[in-house]
Amino acid sequence: MEPASAARAAFREHFGAEPALLVRAPGRVNLIGEHTDYNGLPVLPFAIGRATLLAVGPADAPRLEAVSEGFPVPASLPLDADPATVAEPWHRYLAAALAVLGDRLAGRGARVAIASDLPPASGLSSSSALVVGLLLGLDGLFGLGLGPPALADLAARAERIAGAETGGMDQQVIALARAGHLLRIDFLPPSTRHLPVPPGWAFVVASSGQPAPKGGAARAAYNERVVATRVAAALIADMLGAELEGTPVLGNVADIDAAPILVDELPARVSPRKAAASLGVPVERFVGLAADTFDPDVLLPVRAYARHVLAEAERVDLACAAVEAADLRTLGELMLASHASLRDDYRCSTPALDALVAAMTKAGAAGARLTGAGFGGFAIAACERGREPAVIEAALAAAGGPAFAVEPSDGAALL
Ligand code: ADP
Ligand code: MG
Repeated sequence: MEPASAARAAFREHFGAEPALLVRAPGRVNLIGEHTDYNGLPVLPFAIGRATLLAVGPADAPRLEAVSEGFPVPASLPLDADPATVAEPWHRYLAAALAVLGDRLAGRGARVAIASDLPPASGLSSSSALVVGLLLGLDGLFGLGLGPPALADLAARAERIAGAETGGMDQQVIALARAGHLLRIDFLPPSTRHLPVPPGWAFVVASSGQPAPKGGAARAAYNERVVATRVAAALIADMLGAELEGTPVLGNVADIDAAPILVDELPARVSPRKAAASLGVPVERFVGLAADTFDPDVLLPVRAYARHVLAEAERVDLACAAVEAADLRTLGELMLASHASLRDDYRCSTPALDALVAAMTKAGAAGARLTGAGFGGFAIAACERGREPAVIEAALAAAGGPAFAVEPSDGAALL
């Protein structure tokens, strides 16, 4: 059953009533701009046709009751549930969404039945689809007056409460996307721009066959890159004699013409503690939230990491220009350069992702790259319309799938 009917049917079955409304919240994929967002630098994602559907209705009691297809344990949470004490992982997202709403629900409870054709935990942001969809459903039910920007902001806060590292890209694109468009998101200062996709372009996403890792080692690898790029930003600012307020991010120095030259002046490897000592700042400035998982004495490849981030931000600008010029060939070259940089400088590819990207390109894609944090998960390819079947077939042969075409789709909405 397609997810809209499945969500409606599950609502009737579990709650014995008709839902008051139906929400569709899509997944997303990032075309280019990887590991830039937490450096305050732009990304270029789009929402996809696969989505999470939520049938929503009021409840008599001040609780959130929820069921979700494929998740055996139903949820029944008081409106003030503490996400930290909620045992079932998927219920934590619900509790976190309730937590960011604070008093807005004013004691009103809700029932939700969920169905999705997004593969969960594979990098297409099923978690953000769930949280944005739930917030939109509650907004629709109770007239909370949340516009898409506020919704995206609350959803990002909720996912952080639920324990996810998120720069806010996923929730924004899921809340704001338009069919047939990419969404360029800038963070310093915040702005968004919808770019129409030229006719005749198509996109394929394909799994590497390795799940995108979560928790322990994955978190440590991610934190290492966050910390290293902060160190690089502070060292570059220091070379420029500039004072960086708050957390140093490469977005604060990226517009300075000298930045790419100064990247080459960075030490190849430096420990956060040594960098902090040389700059006369507390090491917490770099390590911050990662402190529990992070050894500040470990030597980090700051130069290579910073080189990737600054070059990737430049590629986002060039990719936007290529989209506007309907220049698929250039876009493909930029995607391949992005992948090479993620592999060689950011060190977050895997042999399976490299083989997948090579196979899709060989099958006629203009370009392909890993998408998401890396270390597994999915790759995205751009190709001429009509070539998707060959690209999908090559992806299936290389990595076993799933692999499917994706169309830039509308963001979350009430149906
Ligand atoms: P991704 O967001 O890339 O798909 P995450 O690990 O961030 O991967 O999120 C996946 C988690 O989000 C699931 O393990 C589950 O807890 C929750 N989730 C996602 N989709 C659903 C759904 N349809 N119903 C219930 N929980 C979901
Ligand atoms: Mg997620």
